[in-house]
Amino acid sequence: MPELPEVETIRRQLDAMLPGSRIVAAWAHPSAKFASAVDATGAAVMAVRRRGKYLLVDLDNGRELIAHLGMTGAFSIAEHGGTPVAGPYTRAWWTLDDGRTVLFDDTRRFGRIAVVDAGQYRSLPTLDALGPEPFDPMFTPKVLWEALRGTKRRLKTQLLSQRPVAGVGNIYADEAFWAAQVHPARRSLTLRQAERLHAGIKQALVRGLDAGGTTLRDYRGVDGRGGENQFNLDCYGRRGLPCHRCGDLLEAAVWDGRTTTYCAQCQGPTPRR
Ligand SMILES: [Zn+2]
Repeated sequence: MPELPEVETIRRQLDAMLPGSRIVAAWAHPSAKFASAVDATGAAVMAVRRRGKYLLVDLDNGRELIAHLGMTGAFSIAEHGGTPVAGPYTRAWWTLDDGRTVLFDDTRRFGRIAVVDAGQYRSLPTLDALGPEPFDPMFTPKVLWEALRGTKRRLKTQLLSQRPVAGVGNIYADEAFWAAQVHPARRSLTLRQAERLHAGIKQALVRGLDAGGTTLRDYRGVDGRGGENQFNLDCYGRRGLPCHRCGDLLEAAVWDGRTTTYCAQCQGPTPRR
């Protein structure tokens, strides 16, 4: 699933191509997850922003087009006019006044498109309750500690809720806990551990951003190219391979429905509950 580095890579690409163009026609799959994409018709794009894993497209009519890529969502841009080339997995398209068409394809349909009044996210509860952006100065180690220490859930499960910090999913969470040498199945942490986890989160995200995202199967940028961060991973997906720090073999387990890879030597023993 695309996480902050992948969504930010797409945002930068779209923000370089779309502002100033007006949407003159649109089509959407009739599913409630995509149908409101047509409500952007007639509006011009002002900017493409991001919050967590959500793309926020500012329109000039006081509304906002919101896109969540889910598992397999991808944007592409068809140049020139004519009939848009929608494929079998196209869930929405928007034709611009310069003849280009923006397509949103989503094979598995876990994505979401919505057009809402600017800043009104009540229909998107996860977006509405997002924690701070990881590169916002207000996201400090203390803020992370406060957001995690009170939970009775496993630390990784709480991190993935998007409330302690926005944009971290399974890949970058495993990387961050490994870098911090904190066990992801713990239910408590010290301020010192929170400081290391805070640094680990930012380091994992910066590394992903610098590599244009992580492509395991589906993730592609608007230009159709994948990222390179899959070659940089220290932990995620490396079960049975030697830890890059201590050499022990990494282990994996499923907690709260998510596969988690970790180093039992560096990150400590698995909590009993
Ligand atoms: Zn290790």
